[in-house]
Amino acid sequence: MDRAKLTRNILIGMVAGFLLGSLIHFAEFNPDSIVSSFIVGGVFYVGGQVFIASLKLLVVPLVFVSLVCGAGNLAGNNNMGAIGLKTVGLYLFTTAAAIVMALGVANVLNPGLGINLAEGSSFAAKESPSLVQVIINIFPSNPIKAMAEGNMLQIIVFAILLGIAMTRAGEHGTNLRASMARWNEVIMQLVLMLMQAAPVGVFCLMVTLFAKLGYGAINDLITYFVCVLLVLALHFSLTYSILIRVLVGVNPLTFYRRMLPVMAFGFSTSSSGATLPVTLETVEKRLGVDKGVGSFVIPLGATINMDGTAIMQGVATVFIAQAYNVDIGMAGYLMVILTATMASIGTAGVPGVGLITLALVLTQVGLPVEGIALIIGVDRLLDMSRTVVNVVGDATVASVVARSEDGFDDAVFNQETTT
Ligand code: ASP
Repeated sequence: MDRAKLTRNILIGMVAGFLLGSLIHFAEFNPDSIVSSFIVGGVFYVGGQVFIASLKLLVVPLVFVSLVCGAGNLAGNNNMGAIGLKTVGLYLFTTAAAIVMALGVANVLNPGLGINLAEGSSFAAKESPSLVQVIINIFPSNPIKAMAEGNMLQIIVFAILLGIAMTRAGEHGTNLRASMARWNEVIMQLVLMLMQAAPVGVFCLMVTLFAKLGYGAINDLITYFVCVLLVLALHFSLTYSILIRVLVGVNPLTFYRRMLPVMAFGFSTSSSGATLPVTLETVEKRLGVDKGVGSFVIPLGATINMDGTAIMQGVATVFIAQAYNVDIGMAGYLMVILTATMASIGTAGVPGVGLITLALVLTQVGLPVEGIALIIGVDRLLDMSRTVVNVVGDATVASVVARSEDGFDDAVFNQETTT
């Protein structure tokens, strides 16, 4: 199937899944009915879960192999330090800009004013890691364990070190690097094979999600909900568009068109990690980002760069502070910017984790963690939307870094054959 057709089919799968899921939801079938238990809870659920499992299957080998190659290439060219600094700097900058925007808009819209705290609302907070623990956890003591547990930051550190070591190990290292490059090709082929199933997988995920989604909670939290969506849209259309236009020098609309399948994956899986194979493939083959840069910047971004999550955390902090009538003051806001940036690094790219690391931000500014109970009802939908911003942020930074290193291929970006 050619690219344009595949993109179109993924989008059709997404919209059709949304429509059918919503229809099933509003028809309010009895949970024991055939439609609910056999079709939604059975066929579509299984289809969606199998699809997600196959995406996840690719993540650890893909991150490992592509980062060993990426780090090896960069270290071989002696520009690894510069690219690493630029990448991390841009990731931190875009995340901090996202939170500042979130705090600004939330203070204008005041989503938490006049909220009646639900009697006895409680939230059994899962233990959120401390900042110190987040830092220590980056460094692996056992690479096999890190891979078995899917601990991305540790896999990244190990792969980068291994890639650098290969460039320094003479002939043996060169041979190993060549094998890794072959592995990379094979795994990318697997990604392409899987993408053929994406229209059906995305359809199944969307039906199950929207058939079960609680829309009722949105009414009570409409200002919060709109506020998060608004800031996500602003960050997307302002920050990213400006970076793409000014620093990459290409048309942001074309950029977003190329990114459509990635956005559809991000939205329907709510996971930057599961979307990673598609992001990597798209960034290299459709945007024209150099392989050496993409295979380093994208896996790193899918793990540490979560602008959408940081936006939710910024708005949620203001919302909870207002709901509990606490004034966190200027120092509190600065603390939110700092901790939400760190929390976004510590947030794994899987559904709903942003809500857990929000506990870290709330604790740092002295707000009750139970406040999370207030927003949990609408988090599923917001998770889908913020994941789209998370993945587009990674691709934007990869393109900026690639352009600055002469590694952005305009011919690939401008090709006519794809949508
Ligand atoms: N679902 C988000 C992601 O994977 C993380 C989060 O905000 O919960 O990017």
